Amino acid sequence: MDESDLKCPVCSAGNLERGSDELDVPHFGKVIHYYLRCKSCGYRINDFAFQGDFPEKDSVEIKDKNDLEIKIVRSSTATVTIPELGLELYPGPLAESFITNVQGLLNRFLDLMPLFDDPKKVQSIEEKIKDAVDGKFPFTISMGDPSGVSHFIKI
Ligand SMILES: [Zn+2]
Repeated sequence: MDESDLKCPVCSAGNLERGSDELDVPHFGKVIHYYLRCKSCGYRINDFAFQGDFPEKDSVEIKDKNDLEIKIVRSSTATVTIPELGLELYPGPLAESFITNVQGLLNRFLDLMPLFDDPKKVQSIEEKIKDAVDGKFPFTISMGDPSGVSHFIKI
């Protein structure tokens, strides 16, 4: 999307400028927040999931417990995959934007497990996730987001 085509919903001026600032999110530290501001009337459209400057594809390798603290900013347009664990989150109308750390991401996958009706498979995935959290094997988190908003915050 090209924001120069956008009009202000309040005054209809085609005079929007893109900006960003840093938000201090409790427990997560600084997060970049995007917005559009109308130069005519000052109206601001807050859009966390607008266009970002982050790479459309990125990945991190989780090798030890410290890496579990890496933060993940995921917009609803992002696909998140952990190939070693066979886990995937797809974008879509019901996809959630979230900010979490690696542990929190794995917990989200665990929360989704009851949706599958193969108890054996669920059990084996749950065990793998637990081993991953315990640092028993390295794994990779890949994120693809055409909006460029999703990113990892490495510490
Ligand atoms: Zn305006």
